[in-house]
Amino acid sequence: MAASPALASSAPPSPAHICPFAQACSYLDWAARELKLDPGWVAILSTPRKVVTVAIPVRLDNGHIQVLAGHRVQHCNVLGPYKGGIRYHPAVTLEEVSALAMLMTWKCALMGIPYGGAKGGIPIDPRRYSVSELERITRRYTSELIKDIGPAEDIPAPDMGTSAREMAWMMDTYSMNVGHAVPGVVTGKPLSIGGSRGRELATGRGVMITVREALARHGGSLAGATVLIQGFGNVGGAAASLLHQAGAKIVAVSGSSGGLYNPKGLDIPALKAHMKEQGGRMAGFPQAEPISNADLLVQKADVLIPAALENQITEANAHQIQARIVAEAANGPTTLAADRILESRGIQVLPDVLTNAGGVVVSYLEWVQGLSYVFWDEERVYQEMEGLMVRAFERVVQEAERRQVSLRLAAYTLGVGRVAQALQDRGLYP
Ligand code: NAD
Repeated sequence: MAASPALASSAPPSPAHICPFAQACSYLDWAARELKLDPGWVAILSTPRKVVTVAIPVRLDNGHIQVLAGHRVQHCNVLGPYKGGIRYHPAVTLEEVSALAMLMTWKCALMGIPYGGAKGGIPIDPRRYSVSELERITRRYTSELIKDIGPAEDIPAPDMGTSAREMAWMMDTYSMNVGHAVPGVVTGKPLSIGGSRGRELATGRGVMITVREALARHGGSLAGATVLIQGFGNVGGAAASLLHQAGAKIVAVSGSSGGLYNPKGLDIPALKAHMKEQGGRMAGFPQAEPISNADLLVQKADVLIPAALENQITEANAHQIQARIVAEAANGPTTLAADRILESRGIQVLPDVLTNAGGVVVSYLEWVQGLSYVFWDEERVYQEMEGLMVRAFERVVQEAERRQVSLRLAAYTLGVGRVAQALQDRGLYP
């Protein structure tokens, strides 16, 4: 199936450019063939319901005005309100946001939570803006989207380059516009305004649970397992800490400007303390050698966790991956072609829609707590999350065994199948 023309890349096709939306449609098509879905329903599922791009004029601290673009793509709300992160990164494009919105639809359906998929983003490097500039950008972006978001319509959350701080600004802007506090308009917000305990580390915790279950399936455990982690932010950093606590040996980690390698295992709490002192830089950490992002991916280890950007494992390096398990903490880190190479080499890929679902699971728990005005302690949140993650893992494994397919295709058939069923049960309006 081709990407919808409005979203197809305007750049000339080149082997180096992988259109993320076309790739997301290929995954949908793959699952649809397995499920033998009617092409008409597949056409609906391949088209985002709403695509919004807004202009964000912002006054910089030096007095100049800059006009940024802000995107929000709402893919499908058959199962419930739209849900998805807001990304601030220079590589953000409408195609990428559209692909990530579609991925969110399958992820929520797979996890059994009543949301549809959405995603938003602004193509900026947030490190190049002051805190007050970022606040003005976030508030203007929110107010441009005011009619499209809301606790029953579309609920943003943090993603790359955003955090609880941006969610607080979004919640405040929305609330000031409607005239009363609306905590349910975003998740991943600070505890002081209705955030959930355990949300900050949730995606990393979900990664840890998924890797633990995958190792246990073959009689292994986290204790002593060797792990490579690309990306050391919200997700990679939390996964590193939790895996380290569980006894795994984190042999390499990296950020955008390279990483660190120690075959005996890195002391993650010491590395975090070092980075805090050094303004976020890894360089200079003792007892570790520098390693590039490209080299990190192909080191020997039990588990490789890509936790940064899309398309990191491609046809160019899939043959060199030495890990036994690839746990996709990032969204879309493996191309379709690379996925087939890994599968043919017997490397188990734990797909993104399952592996990084811990964030949206705890977002859902945050929304439920907010709607009921009852707030849980950390233990309750972890217990609910553990149940949702482990049951989803088991469903995917059983589906893979039943259909004799990879875990990725199994996860997609479950997610896509659930949405397609709901679409058919609701019927086509009017
Ligand atoms: P983040 O901004 O907190 O961290 C991103 C990390 O990636 C940083 O360490 C950064 O240095 C590194 N990075 C950036 N560019 C890189 C490059 N070119 N090569 C290598 N490393 C690079 O972002 P995050 O929230 O941790 O998100 C990471 C991934 O996880 C994204 O794909 C995101 O969509 C996905 N994800 C995030 C959440 C969440 O709750 N934050 C939930 C689900 C999925």
